Amino acid sequence: MDKLVYSFGDSHADGDAGMKNLLGGKGANVAQMCKLGIPVPPGFTITTEVCNYYTKNDNQYPQNLDKEVKDAVAKMENEMNLKFGDAANPLLVSVRSGARVSMPGMMDTVLNLGLNDEIVQGLIAKSGNEKFAWDTYRRFIQMYAGVVMSVEAASWDEHDPFEVEIDKIKAENGVQDDVDLDASALQKLVEKFKQVVKDKAGREFPQDPYEQLWGAINAVFGSWNNQRAITYRKLNKIPEDWGTAVNVMAMVYGNMGEDCATGVAFTRDPATGEKHFFGEFLINAQGEDVVAGVRTPGQVTQKDSQSWAKEHGVSEEERQAKYLSLEEKMPKAYAHLVKVYKNLENHYKDMQDIEFTIQQNKLFMLQTRNGKRTAAAALKIAVDMVDEGLIDEKTALLRVDAGSLDQLLHPNFDTSAKNKPIAKGLAASPGAAVGMAVFSADEAEKRANDGQQVILVRVETSPEDINGMAAAQGILTSRGGKTSHAAVVARGMGKCCVAGCGELAIDYKKRLFSVGDVTVKEGEWLSLDGSTGEIFVGQLSLVEPELKSDFHKLMEWASKVSKMQVRTNADTPADAQKAREFGAVGIGLCRTEHMFFDPQRIKSMRKMILANNTAEREVALAELLPYQRDDFYGILKAMQGLPVTIRLLDPPLHEFLPMDDENQGELAKELGISLEQIKTKVNALHEVNPMLGHRGCRLGITYPEITKMQVRAIMEAACQLTKEGVDVHPEIMIPLIGKSEEFIDQKQVAMEVVEKVLQETGQSPKYEIGTMIEIPRAALTADLIAKDAEFFSFGTNDLTQMCFGYSRDDIGTFLPEYLDKKILKVDPFQSIDQEGVGQLVKYGVERGRSVKPNLSVGICGEHGGDPDSVKFCYKVGMNYVSCSPYRVPIARLAAAQASLED
Ligand code: PEP
Ligand code: MG
Repeated sequence: MDKLVYSFGDSHADGDAGMKNLLGGKGANVAQMCKLGIPVPPGFTITTEVCNYYTKNDNQYPQNLDKEVKDAVAKMENEMNLKFGDAANPLLVSVRSGARVSMPGMMDTVLNLGLNDEIVQGLIAKSGNEKFAWDTYRRFIQMYAGVVMSVEAASWDEHDPFEVEIDKIKAENGVQDDVDLDASALQKLVEKFKQVVKDKAGREFPQDPYEQLWGAINAVFGSWNNQRAITYRKLNKIPEDWGTAVNVMAMVYGNMGEDCATGVAFTRDPATGEKHFFGEFLINAQGEDVVAGVRTPGQVTQKDSQSWAKEHGVSEEERQAKYLSLEEKMPKAYAHLVKVYKNLENHYKDMQDIEFTIQQNKLFMLQTRNGKRTAAAALKIAVDMVDEGLIDEKTALLRVDAGSLDQLLHPNFDTSAKNKPIAKGLAASPGAAVGMAVFSADEAEKRANDGQQVILVRVETSPEDINGMAAAQGILTSRGGKTSHAAVVARGMGKCCVAGCGELAIDYKKRLFSVGDVTVKEGEWLSLDGSTGEIFVGQLSLVEPELKSDFHKLMEWASKVSKMQVRTNADTPADAQKAREFGAVGIGLCRTEHMFFDPQRIKSMRKMILANNTAEREVALAELLPYQRDDFYGILKAMQGLPVTIRLLDPPLHEFLPMDDENQGELAKELGISLEQIKTKVNALHEVNPMLGHRGCRLGITYPEITKMQVRAIMEAACQLTKEGVDVHPEIMIPLIGKSEEFIDQKQVAMEVVEKVLQETGQSPKYEIGTMIEIPRAALTADLIAKDAEFFSFGTNDLTQMCFGYSRDDIGTFLPEYLDKKILKVDPFQSIDQEGVGQLVKYGVERGRSVKPNLSVGICGEHGGDPDSVKFCYKVGMNYVSCSPYRVPIARLAAAQASLED
């Protein structure tokens, strides 16, 4: 700690933008602005190291600080030709906090410091502006007393004691706005304020300027450890030992009259990214007034002022009279501001959020920082800046938050029209949906066929509901997590889904649900926001996303640098097509069971399940064969030689059977057996824990004819396409392997069929046989499995379920509390648990490659579309990630970022 205080001023500064750790964001950027020759009032920054010293040493300062502060004040005095504490020629200062990253809300600021009863007279004499001087003094007392002396409202529902006095004076003087109070009213306000301080703080308002200065510095350093700052740091993972800096700056006054102003601006539009200077300002005001929103600010540019007038039904004549833009009202200062913002953008090579004050037509910059922005704006700004030669493609790729692309890919609610939600569930599949509530899949389908928009509301969904899900605009469930059936299928369809909203009490019989005292009946309108999990009654308006050329450009750059591929999870040619448009280079998971729910197919499927012997089962399977072959033909053709990983049947068989009397009766009739017999069979298939029961390769091992039929369908489709001259690349995937023996068994069954089909057709398409690693035992024995498997695909949904022992469909019951109590940081079914499940993945990859160094490894669990998980997959050396079509762009960007950060 050699140097405690860093000065800045006219075209010189001790610090620069690279010193954020020591000077805080504000201090570093202010220093940089000075170095760029931008007009900034002179001042100094006390370092974050002093803050840490102060905290650790019982609120004491290092010895030298007093002297360094005095020297720095002297420098300001010289530059301003004013003197701190001198009544004849007073220098006033602002004192602001400023951490490395902005911590809005915790920031303590005091403006106009250095005034007292005597100096205010000097300010009157010097400025010749009595109103300004009293206005400045009353602002100072209010702010200082609040920040330093804790004179504030006693509780959240009480009024601020100073605001109470302001309201009284305004009423006495018959004015609406404090800007209209005259000098004598303001002087009276000062007296009232001093009395408030005396009453509330039990002492006089301090008159010694240096006492004021140290009071403010102590308050700012002390505010690093106030409760709200501590909470904010915890939430945002900001380390305790970063500390805040203190910035002391000479005051410039936006409140001296009609030729003064203060404002904030963005160098580009933070909502759209449009290259358009956008800002707001107030005449005759100080910085805090714009943020406080008491007065309605004007628009900085003429263009924005005109659009504002149009929107508010203000005629051009009235606008010219009352609502002129800064550009029109103060053309010289505006022209300077334009020069400055361009200079800043050129320097920082990013969109800036700036604060300025104009004193008697002269511009001063008070702050600059990289501005916050929407996903659409982030994308546009990054791409535009590459085109403008400001940044390179690599920087652009790293600047866009991959997860935020979600906002661009699904229709969204017009946020300006948003009402109050009636409940909130899990944001399971993004986007927005508006439709009438329906409570069964069939009703959804029926109404959709009649041209109605519906929202399917279910306790949970099952594969039987697929028709209704496809027909609905969105899906709402009261049970199930983010990898529940509803969530997975909805994401696959790119459809909005809010899942696991436990507050909903759904009554299928009465066809309604209630939440609190709100009841929603069938046919009533609902709006779902799948990006926030919010549920609204009524029809909220929607805006369709439009993928602009920026999006495609960024994706192209991503592909150029990415060292890991992105495939998609798709079960239909249409999904495959969509994913290809988004840039997927293969299918990482085709779940064949989703193909069995067509009304014609489900019958054969049920016959197969209820067969009494192998011969009966083979008859039913023979009926399914042509359907499956057609499906695979379509998908393989759509993918034109790109790899297509087709998983053999995975879920427990009872999922395909009807559960209600009506459908069971129908099935009985069809099979020529009694309802009782059906019920007995369904009961016999019932499992206590189906997720750990007779599913996955266990089905194929006990009923090899199922494996045989599916492999035949795949290979016949592949051979047919080869014959037609279409390139194909099927990968046959055996699910839920725990022991290498299971894999060897199924591989043998599959190989026999493959060889037969090749012989029958005389074709020899490329194909592979591999497995999913989704049971912890498989990851632990991956070297044994890799001896025979040609590829691995990590099924992290099941792997997470079995590693944690959390049922993926029931996590909704305790997840909110686990997140609240910080037992879990995130839903482990959404973002991979790197510490636990991730170690199984890492170990599995290593063991597998120890046997086969070139083993192809990917992931097909839901994590494949989560940016953090994608980066993890890259680190452990996967060849690809696979995710639902609408998340392909997110995964592509995340993969590119991981490659660049490597
Ligand atoms: C998995 O378990 O990660 C997986 C992709 O399979 P499913 O979700 O179908 O069980
Ligand atoms: Mg699985």
